[in-house]
Amino acid sequence: MGKRASERFTGKVALITGAASGIGKATALKFAAEGAALIIADVNEQAGRAVAKEIADADGRAIFTKTNVTKAADCQAAVRAAVEAFGALHILFNNAGRICFGTVETITEEQWDSVVPVMLKGTFLMSKYAVPAMRAAGGGVIVNSGSTCSFRGSPGQFAYTAAKAAMPVLTREMAVDLEVDQIRVNCVAPGLIETAMGEAYYRFRNGLSDDAPVPAEAKIDWQSPEGIAEAVLFLASDETSDINGVTLPVSRLRLSR
Ligand code: NAD
Repeated sequence: MGKRASERFTGKVALITGAASGIGKATALKFAAEGAALIIADVNEQAGRAVAKEIADADGRAIFTKTNVTKAADCQAAVRAAVEAFGALHILFNNAGRICFGTVETITEEQWDSVVPVMLKGTFLMSKYAVPAMRAAGGGVIVNSGSTCSFRGSPGQFAYTAAKAAMPVLTREMAVDLEVDQIRVNCVAPGLIETAMGEAYYRFRNGLSDDAPVPAEAKIDWQSPEGIAEAVLFLASDETSDINGVTLPVSRLRLSR
């Protein structure tokens, strides 16, 4: 990028899942603006390619890999693409996620199967294949995606909360096992963020249909995807090399959800 915000991540290679939109996209753009080469990994090919192009058009370095994080072969291929394109992998943001709404009684098996594995199995598989590449690079950083739901109940989000509540534990376990390889593992726990998923949550809580517009005044207190991106870069930076195994809440406490 011609005018970089900084060179904090120059020489680093970062793979972001779910980077075609929302928090993942904002994080990819910020990493690129601070010098990193990016792998945009997402099931959404059109939007993912557009993010990679946006980075390249600004003189950054990015490739898109069509990746379903619940498929081992896709995760392996994404890591391989990183190493082939940029020579190494240093940073992984396990950001891909899906949501559905309902209680233990009303959520269907199909809903559970389409939501929980994206976050739980996806974080497992992407990390599993990223670790050897990071070890070969002399170390690395993994950032997982939690939520305020990682810490407390949230009405009508049974499956989503089950997956997000596992993230702090999974993060801690990975950190304990990988410290010997100089690989740090932390987690961000966002509040309510202005993305497609944030809007879906708002519609659910307010009884609106799936395609109803979310009024601008409703979003006054919402957080930006860029704010979460800043937290991810913070955890991925060399300056925080003593922070390992934690889940960092990045939420506005006054928001009652
Ligand atoms: P989003 O819907 O804008 O983006 C999610 C991305 O994940 C999309 O690009 C989608 O194509 C991708 N994705 C879905 N399934 C995938 C799969 N199987 N493999 C690869 N990619 C897949 O949502 P967002 O708000 O940007 O969410 C990003 C992360 O932040 C999620 O893990 C979400 O749970 C978490 N989060 C969001 C909020 C919020 O309020 N928006 C709050 C807390 C946590």
